[in-house]
Amino acid sequence: MFVIEDIQQYYRGRIALNEPLSKYTSYRIGGPADFYFEPADKDDVIALVQHLHEKSIRFFVIGNGSNLLVSDNGVRGVVLNLERGLNQIRTDGEIVYAEAGARLTKFVDFCIQLGLQGVEMLAGIPGTVGGGVIMNAGAYGGEISDFLTEVEVIREGKVLNIKKEAAQFAYRRSGLVRDVVVSASFNLQQGDKAEMMKRRRELLIKRNESQPLNFPNSGSIFKNPVGNYAAKLIEQSGLKGTMQGHAQISEKHGNFIVNTGGAFAQDVIGLMRLARKTVLEKFGITLEPEVKLIGFTEDIVKEFCN
Ligand SMILES: Cc1cc2nc3c(=O)[nH]c(=O)nc-3n(C[C@H](O)[C@H](O)[C@H](O)COP(=O)(O)OP(=O)(O)OC[C@H]3O[C@@H](n4cnc5c(N)ncnc54)[C@H](O)[C@@H]3O)c2cc1C
Repeated sequence: MFVIEDIQQYYRGRIALNEPLSKYTSYRIGGPADFYFEPADKDDVIALVQHLHEKSIRFFVIGNGSNLLVSDNGVRGVVLNLERGLNQIRTDGEIVYAEAGARLTKFVDFCIQLGLQGVEMLAGIPGTVGGGVIMNAGAYGGEISDFLTEVEVIREGKVLNIKKEAAQFAYRRSGLVRDVVVSASFNLQQGDKAEMMKRRRELLIKRNESQPLNFPNSGSIFKNPVGNYAAKLIEQSGLKGTMQGHAQISEKHGNFIVNTGGAFAQDVIGLMRLARKTVLEKFGITLEPEVKLIGFTEDIVKEFCN
């Protein structure tokens, strides 16, 4: 049981009770968190996470909420958002150190300004460095783990540095899902700044042309099955444009479910269920969600994670 008075001696960040998580998800969907924290800085994050660990209080960390579907009932318990207190980026030669709450767009811009090459493909991914590391975010043939050397995490109350080789990165996953990511270090090579800016511009145009960015969404709903594309399978199932409530399988991109205004998480779940069932019947392929389901009942989580 979480008791606010227990941390009031030292905690310096923001606390909100019954905070609507729809304010913090790119979907603009999600019920309230009982306790919502925005720690003030790194020491505040570490002290708070250690306290929660000592008291065996479960908590959930959100980044920019760009890969989350939060239930309409919200989250019972504690949610931490690190964007406010952990957003520094600095460099030591070709090593770039980025705190977990820094936006990927800011990280990419920082690297390009210094002529450090390799992470341009992350431009346009609306997450944070922490969320990007947990998801091993990537696009256009590259992943955040490509140039990463080390991740600083809080694991079971202890601050540790995990080498890339021990972090078990794979397609849209990492082995760090039980950790709190504090920062990540990257080793980048000098490159041609004008070339990098050109590549970033081209990739942003490509995104704009192919993704329904005019509606709130959470990016790709499903992972691409090996050797195939979730978007193609959903499109060939004839589902583009299908609506439930105010949620819609995008007409522009089959693997995006968009919030056309006032959609509920249950509507998105309904469309995910329909897409999975239809693709399985038609192609014999089970689609695995890329979006993280938060605050749902165990049967929903089991349904989508099996
Ligand atoms: C328009 C759009 C386009 C997108 N395009 C892409 C794309 O091209 N490629 C791609 O890979 N993704 C894409 N995404 C999805 C999303 O942006 C990425 O998955 C991103 O990395 C999520 O980061 P986040 O900070 O928003 O994390 P969140 O969505 O807040 O969280 C995602 C997961 O990370 C965990 N997490 C977040 N921060 C921490 C932390 N500090 N410590 C521990 N756990 C943490 C959360 O608990 C959750 O499990 C897109 C999303 C949108 C809306």
